Amino acid sequence: MKTLRSCRTCTACCTYLRIESQPGYTTRYDTGEDIAKPAGQACRFLSDSGCGIYAVRPQVCRKFACDWLQGRKGFSLTDFPLLKGYFAVDGNYFACSPAQEE
Ligand code: SF4
Ligand code: SF4
Repeated sequence: MKTLRSCRTCTACCTYLRIESQPGYTTRYDTGEDIAKPAGQACRFLSDSGCGIYAVRPQVCRKFACDWLQGRKGFSLTDFPLLKGYFAVDGNYFACSPAQEE
C-alpha cells in the first residue's frame, strides 16, 4: 500500500501478521525455510536490521498498513508505533512487543 508515511525502522507487524504457507516460495526465492507463521509469532526472517527478505517479502507484508501508516484520523505523525510502543489495526491496539495474538 502506498502512503505518505514510512515504516522506517518499525517491524511491529512482523509479529502480528499471519502468513500462509506459499507453495514454491522456498525454492523460488531460495529462502530455505517456509514463510508460513501464525499471528503473534515473530517472523523467522526478521533481523536486527529489519526484514531479511525485504525484496521478496510476501504480498501480505507488502499490503499491510497499520492505522498510523494509513494516516487514519487520530494517528498523527508523532504516533509512530515504535515511539508509542503500540500500533493499531482498524482501531484495535496491539503492543509492539512481546508477541501479540490476533
Ligand atoms: S506496525 Fe505500521 S509502521 Fe510498523 S512496520 Fe507495520 S505497518 Fe509499518
Ligand atoms: S517476511 Fe519480512 S516483512 Fe514479512 S513478516 Fe517476515 S520479516 Fe516482516
